[in-house]
Amino acid sequence: MNKKLVSIVVSAYNEAENIDELYRRLADTVALLESLSFELIFVNDGSTDATLKKITCLQIGLTSGILPHAPIHNIKIINLNRNFGHEIAMTAGMDNADGDAVIFMDADLQHPPGYIVQMVEEWRHGADIVLTKRIDNEGISGIYKFVSAFFYKILNFLSDVNIPEKTPDFRLLDRKYIDFLKNFNERDRMFRGLLSWIAPSDNKVKVIDFVAPKRFAGKTKYTFSKSLRLAIDAILQFSTRPLRIAIWFGIITAVFSLILGIWVIVEHYILSNPTPGYATTIVAITFVGSVQLIVLGIMGEYIGKIHLEVKKRPLYFAEIINRKIENNEKNNS
Ligand code: UDP
Ligand code: MG
Repeated sequence: MNKKLVSIVVSAYNEAENIDELYRRLADTVALLESLSFELIFVNDGSTDATLKKITCLQIGLTSGILPHAPIHNIKIINLNRNFGHEIAMTAGMDNADGDAVIFMDADLQHPPGYIVQMVEEWRHGADIVLTKRIDNEGISGIYKFVSAFFYKILNFLSDVNIPEKTPDFRLLDRKYIDFLKNFNERDRMFRGLLSWIAPSDNKVKVIDFVAPKRFAGKTKYTFSKSLRLAIDAILQFSTRPLRIAIWFGIITAVFSLILGIWVIVEHYILSNPTPGYATTIVAITFVGSVQLIVLGIMGEYIGKIHLEVKKRPLYFAEIINRKIENNEKNNS
Protein backbone atom coordinates (compact mmCIF):
# COMPACT_ATOMS: atom_id res chain seq x y z
CA MET A 1 0.00 0.00 0.00
CA ASN A 2 1.18 3.48 -0.82
CA LYS A 3 2.26 5.52 2.16
CA LYS A 4 0.33 8.70 2.81
CA LEU A 5 2.26 11.89 2.16
CA VAL A 6 2.55 14.69 4.70
CA SER A 7 3.86 18.10 3.60
CA ILE A 8 5.67 20.30 6.10
CA VAL A 9 5.58 23.96 5.06
CA VAL A 10 8.17 26.20 6.70
CA SER A 11 8.11 29.92 5.93
CA ALA A 12 11.42 31.63 6.48
CA TYR A 13 12.40 35.26 6.33
CA ASN A 14 16.03 35.82 7.32
CA GLU A 15 16.29 32.64 9.36
CA ALA A 16 19.73 31.43 8.19
CA GLU A 17 20.95 30.65 11.69
CA ASN A 18 17.91 28.49 12.42
CA ILE A 19 17.72 26.38 9.27
CA ASP A 20 20.27 23.67 10.08
CA GLU A 21 18.99 23.06 13.60
CA LEU A 22 15.38 23.05 12.39
CA TYR A 23 16.21 20.57 9.65
CA ARG A 24 18.04 18.27 12.05
CA ARG A 25 15.13 18.21 14.48
CA LEU A 26 12.62 17.76 11.68
CA ALA A 27 14.60 14.90 10.22
CA ASP A 28 14.81 13.21 13.63
CA THR A 29 11.06 13.61 14.14
CA VAL A 30 10.09 12.41 10.70
CA ALA A 31 12.31 9.34 11.17
CA LEU A 32 9.96 8.23 13.95
CA LEU A 33 7.02 8.13 11.54
CA GLU A 34 8.06 5.42 9.16
CA SER A 35 4.57 4.56 8.00
CA LEU A 36 4.26 7.93 6.29
CA SER A 37 6.29 9.74 3.70
CA PHE A 38 7.15 13.41 4.06
CA GLU A 39 7.99 16.35 1.87
CA LEU A 40 9.63 19.40 3.36
CA ILE A 41 8.68 22.68 1.70
CA PHE A 42 10.77 25.71 2.51
CA VAL A 43 9.29 29.02 1.46
CA ASN A 44 11.97 31.67 1.33
CA ASP A 45 10.08 34.94 1.81
CA GLY A 46 12.60 37.24 0.15
CA SER A 47 15.31 36.76 2.77
CA THR A 48 18.32 39.03 2.50
CA ASP A 49 20.60 36.76 4.52
CA ALA A 50 21.93 33.28 3.74
CA THR A 51 18.56 31.51 4.20
CA LEU A 52 18.24 30.56 0.54
CA LYS A 53 21.80 29.28 0.42
CA LYS A 54 21.22 27.17 3.52
CA ILE A 55 18.05 25.55 2.23
CA THR A 56 19.54 24.95 -1.19
CA CYS A 57 22.44 23.14 0.49
CA LEU A 58 19.95 20.94 2.32
CA GLN A 59 18.19 20.15 -0.94
CA ILE A 60 21.43 19.07 -2.55
CA GLY A 61 22.14 16.97 0.52
CA LEU A 62 24.76 19.09 2.22
CA THR A 63 24.27 19.57 5.95
CA SER A 64 26.72 21.40 8.11
CA GLY A 65 27.44 20.28 11.67
CA ILE A 66 25.91 17.13 13.11
CA LEU A 67 24.15 15.06 10.46
CA PRO A 68 20.64 13.83 11.17
CA HIS A 69 20.13 10.14 11.68
CA ALA A 70 18.06 9.84 8.50
CA PRO A 71 18.00 12.82 6.12
CA ILE A 72 14.81 14.07 4.48
CA HIS A 73 15.27 13.59 0.76
CA ASN A 74 12.14 15.22 -0.52
CA ILE A 75 12.80 18.96 -0.16
CA LYS A 76 11.03 21.61 -2.21
CA ILE A 77 12.09 25.24 -2.26
CA ILE A 78 9.63 27.98 -3.12
CA ASN A 79 11.61 31.14 -3.54
CA LEU A 80 9.69 34.41 -3.35
CA ASN A 81 11.78 37.12 -4.96
CA ARG A 82 10.84 39.71 -2.34
CA ASN A 83 9.31 39.78 1.10
CA PHE A 84 5.57 39.17 0.70
CA GLY A 85 4.78 38.57 4.36
CA HIS A 86 4.17 35.46 6.43
CA GLU A 87 0.56 34.79 5.36
CA ILE A 88 1.40 34.95 1.65
CA ALA A 89 4.49 32.81 2.23
CA MET A 90 2.30 30.15 3.85
CA THR A 91 -0.10 30.42 0.92
CA ALA A 92 2.75 29.84 -1.54
CA GLY A 93 3.75 26.77 0.47
CA MET A 94 0.19 25.49 0.56
CA ASP A 95 -0.22 25.97 -3.21
CA ASN A 96 2.82 23.79 -3.83
CA ALA A 97 2.11 21.10 -1.25
CA ASP A 98 1.13 17.65 -2.54
CA GLY A 99 0.54 16.03 0.84
CA ASP A 100 -2.62 14.31 2.07
CA ALA A 101 -2.08 16.56 5.05
CA VAL A 102 -0.11 19.79 5.33
CA ILE A 103 1.66 21.02 8.45
CA PHE A 104 2.55 24.70 8.74
CA MET A 105 5.31 25.88 11.04
CA ASP A 106 7.75 28.71 11.73
CA ALA A 107 11.44 28.41 11.02
CA ASP A 108 12.71 29.75 14.36
CA LEU A 109 12.00 26.59 16.42
CA GLN A 110 9.29 28.33 18.42
CA HIS A 111 7.13 25.56 17.00
CA PRO A 112 8.96 22.50 18.35
CA PRO A 113 9.15 19.86 15.59
CA GLY A 114 8.63 17.05 18.12
CA TYR A 115 4.89 17.87 18.27
CA ILE A 116 4.53 16.75 14.68
CA VAL A 117 4.33 13.14 15.93
CA GLN A 118 1.24 13.96 18.01
CA MET A 119 -0.31 16.08 15.25
CA VAL A 120 0.03 13.30 12.74
CA GLU A 121 -1.38 10.76 15.22
CA GLU A 122 -4.48 12.93 15.72
CA TRP A 123 -4.88 13.22 11.98
CA ARG A 124 -4.63 9.47 11.55
CA HIS A 125 -7.28 9.06 14.20
CA GLY A 126 -9.73 11.13 12.21
CA ALA A 127 -8.99 14.81 12.94
CA ASP A 128 -9.10 17.00 9.84
CA ILE A 129 -7.59 19.99 11.56
CA VAL A 130 -5.00 19.82 14.31
CA LEU A 131 -4.40 23.17 15.92
CA THR A 132 -1.92 24.07 18.61
CA LYS A 133 -2.57 26.24 21.62
CA ARG A 134 0.36 28.16 23.03
CA ILE A 135 -0.13 27.93 26.77
CA ASP A 136 2.98 30.02 27.29
CA ASN A 137 5.46 31.90 25.15
CA GLU A 138 8.91 32.05 26.68
CA GLY A 139 9.96 34.38 23.92
CA ILE A 140 7.95 37.43 25.02
CA SER A 141 7.77 39.60 28.12
CA GLY A 142 4.88 39.85 30.60
CA ILE A 143 3.95 43.34 29.37
CA TYR A 144 3.78 42.15 25.79
CA LYS A 145 1.55 39.24 26.83
CA PHE A 146 -0.78 41.69 28.60
CA VAL A 147 -0.93 44.05 25.61
CA SER A 148 -1.54 41.10 23.30
CA ALA A 149 -4.41 39.75 25.45
CA PHE A 150 -5.99 43.23 25.54
CA PHE A 151 -5.60 43.58 21.80
CA TYR A 152 -7.33 40.25 21.11
CA LYS A 153 -10.29 41.38 23.23
CA ILE A 154 -10.67 44.49 21.05
CA LEU A 155 -10.07 42.52 17.88
CA ASN A 156 -12.78 40.01 18.73
CA PHE A 157 -15.18 42.77 19.72
CA LEU A 158 -14.69 44.50 16.38
CA SER A 159 -14.56 41.42 14.20
CA ASP A 160 -17.47 39.23 13.09
CA VAL A 161 -15.29 36.14 13.12
CA ASN A 162 -13.77 34.90 16.36
CA ILE A 163 -9.99 35.03 16.02
CA PRO A 164 -8.58 33.04 18.93
CA GLU A 165 -5.57 34.27 20.85
CA LYS A 166 -2.59 31.99 21.44
CA THR A 167 -3.40 29.87 18.40
CA PRO A 168 -0.23 30.14 16.39
CA ASP A 169 0.31 29.18 12.77
CA PHE A 170 1.55 25.74 13.84
CA ARG A 171 -1.17 23.46 12.53
CA LEU A 172 -2.04 20.45 10.43
CA LEU A 173 -4.76 20.58 7.80
CA ASP A 174 -6.18 17.66 5.90
CA ARG A 175 -6.13 17.82 2.11
CA LYS A 176 -9.86 18.65 1.91
CA TYR A 177 -9.31 21.85 3.89
CA ILE A 178 -6.23 22.72 1.86
CA ASP A 179 -8.25 22.39 -1.34
CA PHE A 180 -11.02 24.47 0.16
CA LEU A 181 -8.65 27.18 1.38
CA LYS A 182 -7.35 27.57 -2.15
CA ASN A 183 -10.74 29.05 -3.07
CA PHE A 184 -10.05 32.12 -0.97
CA ASN A 185 -8.69 34.63 -3.43
CA GLU A 186 -8.26 37.65 -1.21
CA ARG A 187 -4.75 39.03 -1.11
CA ASP A 188 -5.13 40.28 2.42
CA ARG A 189 -5.42 37.05 4.33
CA MET A 190 -5.02 35.59 7.76
CA PHE A 191 -5.16 31.82 8.02
CA ARG A 192 -6.33 31.94 11.61
CA GLY A 193 -9.35 34.01 10.63
CA LEU A 194 -10.09 31.95 7.52
CA LEU A 195 -10.24 28.78 9.59
CA SER A 196 -12.58 30.44 12.08
CA TRP A 197 -14.71 31.53 9.15
CA ILE A 198 -14.97 27.91 7.94
CA ALA A 199 -15.88 26.92 11.52
CA PRO A 200 -15.25 23.19 11.16
CA SER A 201 -17.26 20.92 13.43
CA ASP A 202 -15.65 20.35 16.82
CA ASN A 203 -15.26 16.60 16.41
CA LYS A 204 -13.00 17.17 13.41
CA VAL A 205 -10.68 19.58 15.23
CA LYS A 206 -8.07 18.61 17.78
CA VAL A 207 -6.03 21.06 19.79
CA ILE A 208 -2.60 20.30 21.20
CA ASP A 209 -1.21 22.45 24.03
CA PHE A 210 2.40 23.47 23.89
CA VAL A 211 4.85 25.93 25.37
CA ALA A 212 6.65 28.04 22.77
CA PRO A 213 10.31 28.31 23.65
CA LYS A 214 12.39 31.37 22.81
CA ARG A 215 13.57 31.72 19.23
CA PHE A 216 16.57 29.49 18.61
CA ALA A 217 18.43 32.40 16.96
CA GLY A 218 17.74 35.79 15.41
CA LYS A 219 15.08 38.36 16.17
CA THR A 220 11.30 38.43 15.70
CA LYS A 221 10.19 39.74 12.32
CA TYR A 222 7.11 41.28 13.87
CA THR A 223 8.03 44.71 15.13
CA PHE A 224 5.41 46.65 17.09
CA SER A 225 4.31 48.64 14.03
CA LYS A 226 4.09 45.50 11.85
CA SER A 227 2.00 43.74 14.52
CA LEU A 228 -0.29 46.78 14.77
CA ARG A 229 -0.73 46.86 10.99
CA LEU A 230 -1.55 43.17 11.01
CA ALA A 231 -4.10 43.75 13.77
CA ILE A 232 -5.87 46.51 11.84
CA ASP A 233 -5.82 44.37 8.69
CA ALA A 234 -7.34 41.49 10.64
CA ILE A 235 -10.25 43.67 11.77
CA LEU A 236 -10.85 45.04 8.28
CA GLN A 237 -10.69 41.59 6.68
CA PHE A 238 -13.30 39.99 8.84
CA SER A 239 -15.77 42.71 9.63
CA THR A 240 -17.48 45.90 8.62
CA ARG A 241 -18.37 46.53 12.25
CA PRO A 242 -16.07 49.59 12.50
CA LEU A 243 -18.25 51.26 9.84
CA ARG A 244 -21.35 50.55 11.89
CA ILE A 245 -19.64 51.87 15.00
CA ALA A 246 -18.76 54.99 12.99
CA ILE A 247 -22.45 55.54 12.25
CA TRP A 248 -23.30 55.28 15.94
CA PHE A 249 -20.46 57.61 16.73
CA GLY A 250 -21.97 60.10 14.26
CA ILE A 251 -25.46 59.73 15.75
CA ILE A 252 -24.20 60.24 19.30
CA THR A 253 -22.26 63.38 18.37
CA ALA A 254 -25.28 64.70 16.43
CA VAL A 255 -27.49 64.26 19.50
CA PHE A 256 -24.81 65.85 21.65
CA SER A 257 -24.56 68.89 19.31
CA LEU A 258 -28.35 69.21 19.22
CA ILE A 259 -28.53 69.31 23.01
CA LEU A 260 -25.71 71.84 23.06
CA GLY A 261 -27.49 73.96 20.42
CA ILE A 262 -30.78 73.90 22.35
CA TRP A 263 -28.93 74.83 25.52
CA VAL A 264 -27.27 77.84 23.83
CA ILE A 265 -30.69 79.05 22.53
CA VAL A 266 -32.26 78.60 25.95
CA GLU A 267 -29.42 80.49 27.57
CA HIS A 268 -29.68 83.30 25.03
CA TYR A 269 -33.42 83.84 24.73
CA ILE A 270 -34.94 82.45 27.89
CA LEU A 271 -32.27 82.91 30.51
CA SER A 272 -30.98 86.07 28.79
CA ASN A 273 -27.49 84.94 29.66
CA PRO A 274 -25.69 84.27 26.33
CA THR A 275 -22.52 82.16 26.56
CA PRO A 276 -19.63 84.60 26.12
CA GLY A 277 -16.80 84.19 23.61
CA TYR A 278 -16.06 81.69 20.90
CA ALA A 279 -14.97 78.85 23.13
CA THR A 280 -18.08 76.70 22.70
CA THR A 281 -18.16 77.30 18.93
CA ILE A 282 -14.54 76.31 18.52
CA VAL A 283 -14.93 73.26 20.74
CA ALA A 284 -17.96 72.16 18.73
CA ILE A 285 -16.23 72.70 15.38
CA THR A 286 -13.06 70.84 16.37
CA PHE A 287 -15.06 68.04 17.95
CA VAL A 288 -17.30 67.49 14.94
CA GLY A 289 -14.29 67.96 12.63
CA SER A 290 -12.30 65.25 14.37
CA VAL A 291 -15.27 62.86 14.42
CA GLN A 292 -15.61 63.37 10.67
CA LEU A 293 -11.94 62.71 10.13
CA ILE A 294 -12.08 59.51 12.16
CA VAL A 295 -15.09 58.26 10.22
CA LEU A 296 -13.47 59.22 6.91
CA GLY A 297 -10.30 57.44 8.00
CA ILE A 298 -12.21 54.24 8.73
CA MET A 299 -13.96 54.47 5.37
CA GLY A 300 -10.63 55.21 3.71
CA GLU A 301 -9.14 52.02 5.13
CA TYR A 302 -11.95 49.96 3.62
CA ILE A 303 -11.74 51.77 0.29
CA GLY A 304 -7.98 51.19 0.25
CA LYS A 305 -8.58 47.47 0.76
CA ILE A 306 -11.16 47.41 -2.05
CA HIS A 307 -8.67 49.21 -4.28
CA LEU A 308 -6.07 46.51 -3.66
CA GLU A 309 -8.49 43.59 -3.93
CA VAL A 310 -10.27 44.58 -7.16
CA LYS A 311 -7.03 44.49 -9.13
CA LYS A 312 -6.90 40.73 -8.58
CA ARG A 313 -3.15 40.74 -8.88
CA PRO A 314 -1.43 37.43 -8.30
CA LEU A 315 -0.56 36.96 -4.65
CA TYR A 316 3.13 36.39 -5.17
CA PHE A 317 5.82 35.62 -7.68
CA ALA A 318 7.58 32.38 -6.91
CA GLU A 319 10.36 30.40 -8.43
CA ILE A 320 10.55 26.71 -7.64
CA ILE A 321 14.12 25.69 -7.05
CA ASN A 322 15.09 22.10 -7.63
CA ARG A 323 18.85 21.84 -7.46
CA LYS A 324 18.74 18.19 -6.65
CA ILE A 325 17.43 17.28 -10.08
CA GLU A 326 19.97 19.57 -11.78
CA ASN A 327 22.71 17.92 -9.79
CA ASN A 328 21.56 14.42 -10.59
CA GLU A 329 21.24 15.32 -14.27
CA LYS A 330 24.80 16.62 -14.25
CA ASN A 331 25.99 13.45 -12.57
CA ASN A 332 24.22 11.31 -15.15
CA SER A 333 25.54 13.17 -18.17
N1 UDP B 1 8.10 35.24 8.38
C1 UDP B 1 7.92 35.26 7.00
N2 UDP B 1 7.73 36.47 6.39
C2 UDP B 1 7.68 37.64 7.09
C3 UDP B 1 7.80 37.60 8.49
C4 UDP B 1 8.00 36.37 9.10
O1 UDP B 1 7.98 34.23 6.34
O2 UDP B 1 7.51 38.69 6.47
C5 UDP B 1 8.32 33.94 9.03
C6 UDP B 1 9.53 33.94 9.96
O3 UDP B 1 10.73 33.64 9.28
C7 UDP B 1 9.14 32.85 10.95
C8 UDP B 1 7.62 33.00 11.03
O4 UDP B 1 7.23 33.69 9.86
O5 UDP B 1 9.46 31.57 10.47
C9 UDP B 1 7.16 33.75 12.27
O6 UDP B 1 7.87 34.96 12.39
P1 UDP B 1 8.50 35.43 13.77
O7 UDP B 1 9.13 34.29 14.48
O8 UDP B 1 9.37 36.60 13.50
O9 UDP B 1 7.19 35.92 14.55
P2 UDP B 1 6.87 35.76 16.12
O10 UDP B 1 7.10 34.30 16.44
O11 UDP B 1 7.84 36.62 16.83
O12 UDP B 1 5.46 36.18 16.24
MG1 MG C 1 8.81 33.26 16.20
